[in-house]
Amino acid sequence: MATRIYCPRCEWKPHADDRWQCVPSCGTVWNTFDTGGRCPGCGKRWQTTQCLHCHVYSLHEAWYHEERPAKADEESEAESWSEELVGVGE
Ligand SMILES: [Zn+2]
Ligand SMILES: [Zn+2]
Repeated sequence: MATRIYCPRCEWKPHADDRWQCVPSCGTVWNTFDTGGRCPGCGKRWQTTQCLHCHVYSLHEAWYHEERPAKADEESEAESWSEELVGVGE
């Protein structure tokens, strides 16, 4: 199942080149979604992550959103379609 990462408040999506800073601890600058909220410099596990767009702090886990299977991927859709019973004539 695909996981989407976006701000739980404004749905802003962080990009690979977005950066957060470990302050006031060690000052390391990194992409916190690469490490699941853990600072690669000092190993501190950040419970909350600030949105770079709306500046609201949210729990790091709250940024991860599981894709609903309602929007089934085309593969499984095609698979079930091929198993469809076909009527013959009239
Ligand atoms: Zn740090
Ligand atoms: Zn936001």
